[in-house]
Amino acid sequence: MAPVRRLARFRDRGRVFFALLEDDGGARPIEGNPFEEDPFALAGGTVTVSPPFTGWEPLSPCVPSKIVGIGRNYRDHVAELGHDVPGEPLLFLKPPSSLLPPGGTILLPAASSRVDFEGELGVVIGRRTRRVPASRALDQVLGYTCVNDVTARDLQKSDVQFTRAKGFDAFCPCGPVVAIGLRPDDLVVETFVNGRRRQSSPVSRMIFGIAELVSFVSGVMTLLPGDLIATGTPEGVGPLAPGDEVTVSIEGIGRLTSRVETDRSVG
Ligand code: MG
Repeated sequence: MAPVRRLARFRDRGRVFFALLEDDGGARPIEGNPFEEDPFALAGGTVTVSPPFTGWEPLSPCVPSKIVGIGRNYRDHVAELGHDVPGEPLLFLKPPSSLLPPGGTILLPAASSRVDFEGELGVVIGRRTRRVPASRALDQVLGYTCVNDVTARDLQKSDVQFTRAKGFDAFCPCGPVVAIGLRPDDLVVETFVNGRRRQSSPVSRMIFGIAELVSFVSGVMTLLPGDLIATGTPEGVGPLAPGDEVTVSIEGIGRLTSRVETDRSVG
């Protein structure tokens, strides 16, 4: 089986670039866009850069045209929220403006008094995909990442539509890498708040699996390279408070850590 490769994205002195991270801690910057061309071919002739990567600011490892969320995809989470198990995948959209890079700060909006973390496996699409059958859906996936589907729970209940509750700026931490060549079947999603484990579930407990989700979503909307599907959260969700540090961790992908502060920004 091919080794797992880890694709990250950085900004350094105004230049934005992708890089493949090496197991020894080095990085191979990529000339070009790995979502338009083969990332390994692009990195083939480049030189490995050794840490520390002074000035390299981590960015979200993909640039989605859309982020598709899946609601109620673990039975124990459906139960904790008091809902019924859905008969088919429940879709919603988060805007790309909600993306937050690794190490970023989740801003708690004044409009909500209850903002929850939701640790999830993220599926990153590698090819233009329309109406793919589940039997071929995994061929369309570039790799996997960690997502925190941050949700204003009170607004989700009051609005009925999820757009506001899921759509605030910084409500979609994503990263730190897209892991390519990872077998998703055995992955475990974990979420920690201030170092304490709050969620832990194998993704095999999802009601609708990854291939089924990619197939179902692509039957509704054309998926483009870099698009992100947040596959739903297991039980254990809970509120975030100013000063918290929240980490979504999936072995083989890495740790996605965000700080939490009250949104005091103006304009
Ligand atoms: Mg969610």
